[in-house]
Amino acid sequence: MATPFVQGRLRKEPLSFVIKTECNHCGKAITIEINTEMNYKILRGPTNPLVFAPFVDFDKLTDPSIIDAF
Ligand SMILES: [Zn+2]
Repeated sequence: MATPFVQGRLRKEPLSFVIKTECNHCGKAITIEINTEMNYKILRGPTNPLVFAPFVDFDKLTDPSIIDAF
């Protein structure tokens, strides 16, 4: 979810991304728009979806990317 924030800052231009996913519990479609300012808007689906954000201990991270630590 940090991709538009990082890409927008690197390119020095405002960007927005649309994520299309679904609830793992009931299968309902969820569409979320996120922009360079880390603002998000729920375009489709529940108004208060639960979002999973894994914690990564950067002091102990030895993997080449945080993706590998997930
Ligand atoms: Zn659901």
